[in-house]
Amino acid sequence: MPSLVDTHCHLAFSAFADDLDAVVERARSAGLVGCVAVAVDPESAEAALALSEQFPGWAHATSGLHPTEAACADPLAWDKVNAQLRGGRFVAVGETGLDRFHDDVPLATQQASLERHLGLAVELDLPVILHCRDAFDELLEQLAPWRARGVRGVLHCFTGDAAHIDRLLELDLHVGVGGIATFKPRDDLRAAVRAVPLTRLLVETDAPWLAPVPHRGRRNEPAYVADVASCLAADRELELEAFCDATTQAARALFNLPSAAPATPR
Ligand SMILES: [Zn+2]
Ligand SMILES: [Zn+2]
Repeated sequence: MPSLVDTHCHLAFSAFADDLDAVVERARSAGLVGCVAVAVDPESAEAALALSEQFPGWAHATSGLHPTEAACADPLAWDKVNAQLRGGRFVAVGETGLDRFHDDVPLATQQASLERHLGLAVELDLPVILHCRDAFDELLEQLAPWRARGVRGVLHCFTGDAAHIDRLLELDLHVGVGGIATFKPRDDLRAAVRAVPLTRLLVETDAPWLAPVPHRGRRNEPAYVADVASCLAADRELELEAFCDATTQAARALFNLPSAAPATPR
């Protein structure tokens, strides 16, 4: 069976509180050798860390302040994130980024928060998970000077075009692709991500949201990353196994994940 990593899910969110064990079991059965449980604030980072202890070597936690969370304007929340990340038990900084679609947090506040995340990611040599909605030019402009400082990371849930891909690759960033790329009318998106080398391509679910075809409209879960992978592998006319091995290798390298999960995870 092909091995997969869901590089972006919110498995510690309450949407999975009632049937977490079954969700993880289905994910393992679908070939998942790991997942990155992404936080949006200090509390969800704690929850993600607890999850990583419950499923050691399989679930991996991040800490950060999502740009649409009020916490991204709160210095105390940043102090907590800073302390959490310095504790050394998280695989990535984020998600952070810019979002002009939800405008509850002013863009300048989001930019200041992103800048703090980038600085800490470079200092701790951790990858950064970037969220971007309706703010691609602003995000790329802010990221540009960070390339020389060694920032690395992934733009998750990519929905842009071929020009955006070029600019992300120029910055040595990875591109995370999720369920939207499986939607029938999104030929344009599939065509754009075809240009991403497999060493830079990550698959993700963003569960519980954005379930891929054929689960569209239902709660998303990490197992469905297999449907994203099938769609993208078919689009490239690649063997599923080769596609999965390559993207899993890319995920392990970026997030510094163990090469094999322990045999007795619980
Ligand atoms: Zn996001
Ligand atoms: Zn997310």
